[in-house]
Amino acid sequence: MADAPQEDAATTSKKAAKKAEAKAKKEALKAQRAAEQLSKQTAALEIDDPAKDRYGLVKPISPAVFSAEAEEVNLRSLGEEHEGKTVILRAWIQNTRTQSAKMAFAELREEGNWTIQAVVMVTPEGTPEAQVVSRPMVKFITAITPESFVAVEAKVKRPLEPVKSCRVSTFELHITRCFTIAPAPPMLGLTLAAANRPITDFNDEDVKAPGESDKEPEAGVPAATMLTHLDNIAMHKRAPVQQAIADIRIEVKDLFRSYLKARGFKEFEPPCLIGAASEGGGNVFRLQYFNQEAFLAQSPQFYKQFEIAGGRKRVFSIAPVFRAENSNTPRHMTEFTGLDLEMEIKNDYSEVLLMLEGVLLHIFRGIKERCAHEIELVRSVYPSEEVLLPEPGKEVRLTFAEAQQLLREEGPEEFRNVRDDEDMSTPQEKALGAVVRAKYNTDFYVIDKFPDTARPFYAKVDPTSKPSADGVRATNAFDFFLRNQEILSGGQRINDPDELAERISAKGINPASPGIKEYIATFRQVGVPPHGGGGIGLDRIVAWFLALPSVHLAAYYPRTPKRLMP
Ligand code: ATP
Repeated sequence: MADAPQEDAATTSKKAAKKAEAKAKKEALKAQRAAEQLSKQTAALEIDDPAKDRYGLVKPISPAVFSAEAEEVNLRSLGEEHEGKTVILRAWIQNTRTQSAKMAFAELREEGNWTIQAVVMVTPEGTPEAQVVSRPMVKFITAITPESFVAVEAKVKRPLEPVKSCRVSTFELHITRCFTIAPAPPMLGLTLAAANRPITDFNDEDVKAPGESDKEPEAGVPAATMLTHLDNIAMHKRAPVQQAIADIRIEVKDLFRSYLKARGFKEFEPPCLIGAASEGGGNVFRLQYFNQEAFLAQSPQFYKQFEIAGGRKRVFSIAPVFRAENSNTPRHMTEFTGLDLEMEIKNDYSEVLLMLEGVLLHIFRGIKERCAHEIELVRSVYPSEEVLLPEPGKEVRLTFAEAQQLLREEGPEEFRNVRDDEDMSTPQEKALGAVVRAKYNTDFYVIDKFPDTARPFYAKVDPTSKPSADGVRATNAFDFFLRNQEILSGGQRINDPDELAERISAKGINPASPGIKEYIATFRQVGVPPHGGGGIGLDRIVAWFLALPSVHLAAYYPRTPKRLMP
């Protein structure tokens, strides 16, 4: 028995050595292919070719290599006015196809899935344009490796029939000059086609043996794991599906910001580095800060409230949030982006609830309208049903007690005995989402009046609520859900310092502890109006709106307990 760990260690180091050997072999093969490819390209150039100034490997490129009349274009803005004109396009070679020694095709991609077909054809002898395109030039272009960055000069023409495989289908480019600015290696770690297939395995640990390929395909192109994607970050990001997700994320932020600004909210930036783990010590990252300890912010909560105390009536922030939770789930990351707001309450905390509901519905309706193409592209990779949103005036808002009752009465058998004074588990939330969808025809709904046991110390207890047998009371606090999953927590905050100190003690926290003491003191410095707000996980709303299999796909660089790179 005592030898077992040693045996394990020996097996592990053998495996590691094998892995390293296989990796070295793979690298050597790559280098050999790269050398072969380069010599092919230079061989094409060495031939005495009258068209030799029209193509080649050029780093850096000078404008003098192009015709004076050629106009720089973007595929997005290519239109009828360009037909017959000479243009310059800087793009990536997606693939090339040789038709004959005299003719070849290439697909050029500019950004996202903006692609166009390019044709390169040897100019017939005797025409005034003789030697514009030579055979070596055709050969050179077909030898360019996929994902190389090129600048082409070409005539814009109409193809005989629309090019279905390209986003720009009604024009094609007839190449007259082609320069490789940045060549890609002969073997990509991840091809574009594979990068654009759904990721099915989000395990952060390398479970593959070296040389073993990723999951085998249904449709010919291998699907890759998240690990392979992140090891090949450039190709991961080049995948049109990833760019579409990123574009939707940008719009979500924009819609959040513009809706709130139009309603008098002021943007501010909360700090990420903080001096005390004030909201509960467990899930906070600690770090050395000169000769003291510092922490990464778990939420901008206190700072939003300081802004209100500081004389702002409505504020919002878009900022990173850090959670040191060892949660290896498709819903969690250790760093995510919080969309947060806080506002004065004039009469009732429902003003906050309605503002948050308003901004989220504005975001969801807005992206449906602004990002129809991106949503369709994402769906072509990650199929999903359209998100069901409530009709105006038919928003679903249940109290926690009503939601639990619905679950008891209409949910699965195992939830017959759920209680009104205990927080909901994730399986309960999922089951409730299905009941709400079937009953109210919506994937977006609010659950209000959570029990105080399920809320942080700053949540305002509903003054009208009756305590349960165990003394549990309802709060003026709520969660919002999208496709069965929590996307927002919010509610009214305590603005009276004595009440706050009392709640903090009741939660078993010392009101004199670092961070907490200063927090309470802020409410003693000045009169702070009643206020409330909420925090939305940007990554989650993007992921769940698109029904992605993991929130990690919605982040630019997902951070999880096992992943800090790239
Ligand atoms: P959960 O119970 O799902 O772990 P939470 O109750 O800790 O979430 P809050 O502290 O209320 O979440 O944070 C507000 C919002 O931030 C959540 O509704 C969610 O959208 C997002 N969020 C929270 N934790 C994470 C995380 N680890 N990764 C990504 N988003 C998160």
